[in-house]
Amino acid sequence: MSNHNEKIALVTGATRGIGAETVRQLAQSGVHTLLAGRKREAAVALALKLQAEGLPVEALQLDVTDADSIAIAVEHVTERHGRLDILVNNAGVLLEDPALAPSAQSLDAWRSTFDTNVFALVAVTQAFLPLLKKSNAARIVNVSSVLGSQTLHADPTSDIWDFKIPAYNASKAAVNSWTLSLAYELRATPIKVNTVHPGYVKTDMNGGEGEIEIADGARSSVQMALIGSDGPTGSFTYLGEVLPW
Ligand code: NDP
Repeated sequence: MSNHNEKIALVTGATRGIGAETVRQLAQSGVHTLLAGRKREAAVALALKLQAEGLPVEALQLDVTDADSIAIAVEHVTERHGRLDILVNNAGVLLEDPALAPSAQSLDAWRSTFDTNVFALVAVTQAFLPLLKKSNAARIVNVSSVLGSQTLHADPTSDIWDFKIPAYNASKAAVNSWTLSLAYELRATPIKVNTVHPGYVKTDMNGGEGEIEIADGARSSVQMALIGSDGPTGSFTYLGEVLPW
């Protein structure tokens, strides 16, 4: 069992991109961080690299769309740590073809997008909630996107209209809605539930394009993972700036 002064975090989709950097930054701040990846070998390889840098990182196999994989991961964290202090739901997919009109995106893309970005995020959170309730100050961070903002989509002058990926946008709107539901349910507990936009980050998801580097793209998640007892719950932010729902 872990000692009670050391925080235990778990980051999903952590073998590359924003998730990998979130693990690095949490570990650099002294948090014992479980680097959860769909592919065990990738998670182990990156964890070994970060451990060699002296960082408190542990690999965990977790395919967020696989109920058995989630159950095994929960069992592992229960046995090794007995609780979870921080859950960063970072794993996500963008499966649509931005060259197509919104009305031409396939239903298969809609289903697969929701499977990972929404249903899996809810399933992982539900499964780890008993361990989060064992923490005296748990934090749940859902990695959403400004593309999930209905307010911006309803504004025809917003440049958000340039992104023609309706299933992805709707999946992030659903993540935002779920964040509010769970934050409300847990409002009388020490658990804080927030959703963040990481920025437009140069990762594989964007084909390497973006406005900011991966190191900066992890900052919003890390900031919300480490908020104190006076921090918000049920918020949607980018680097602390409140975003429209
Ligand atoms: P990447 O495509 O670079 O990485 C996505 C990560 O999610 C990978 O580690 C991938 O694992 C993992 N993943 C996908 N499906 C699963 C699964 N079933 N189980 C476990 N892990 C899975 O994306 P980013 O780093 O850019 O995105 C991270 C998050 O940030 C996402 O939720 C995304 O929607 C969000 N976001 C990103 C923005 C950006 O500009 N990049 C902007 C706004 C939000 P594997 O390597 O195995 O495929």
